[in-house]
Amino acid sequence: MATLHFVYGAMGAGKSHSLFCFFDQATRASQKCALFVASPTASTTSPSVSSRTGFSNPAHPLETGEVLYPGALCPTGDCPNIVIVDEAQFLTRAQVRQLVQLVHKEGVTVRCYGLRADVFGNSFEGSAALMAVADTMQELTHVCGCGAIATRTSNTHFQRPTSDDTTALVDTDSTSYRAECSRCWIASMGL
Ligand SMILES: [Zn+2]
Repeated sequence: MATLHFVYGAMGAGKSHSLFCFFDQATRASQKCALFVASPTASTTSPSVSSRTGFSNPAHPLETGEVLYPGALCPTGDCPNIVIVDEAQFLTRAQVRQLVQLVHKEGVTVRCYGLRADVFGNSFEGSAALMAVADTMQELTHVCGCGAIATRTSNTHFQRPTSDDTTALVDTDSTSYRAECSRCWIASMGL
């Protein structure tokens, strides 16, 4: 049975590496795989997905508000067997609901990869929606500088949010982020 699966974690936890492992396995199994990447704005859309281990593959951009189903993910009704969405934290609630329809009306397996929360600990719209409706979920973790399991993302040029509902977007300089355990993250927050 097709399912909606959400793989989430902190920055650098290995989401893209996990994505490419699954993509390779699925294509070797002769599955028709389509790779997409969600983007908060059209101007920052990246045409590819890459990992720190050196893998890279072209991806179709998904813009905020774009209709995924019926629409971008199944053009002319020709659905892939498997849909993979990277940077899924940038999906909207409406787009996540469309993914649920794609899975359970068309029998397409969908795997989404994204951040759990931003550096301030605020949920992303796409991640929160996926956690509410995904059939299965998997958390990937990192190792904190103190040796504990790291599940949170911090920023080396950290600035406290100006309000509780501020959601920090991810910039393109991934070297400025680090994964931390909750204890170290609270210290970074100055709480
Ligand atoms: Zn720590």
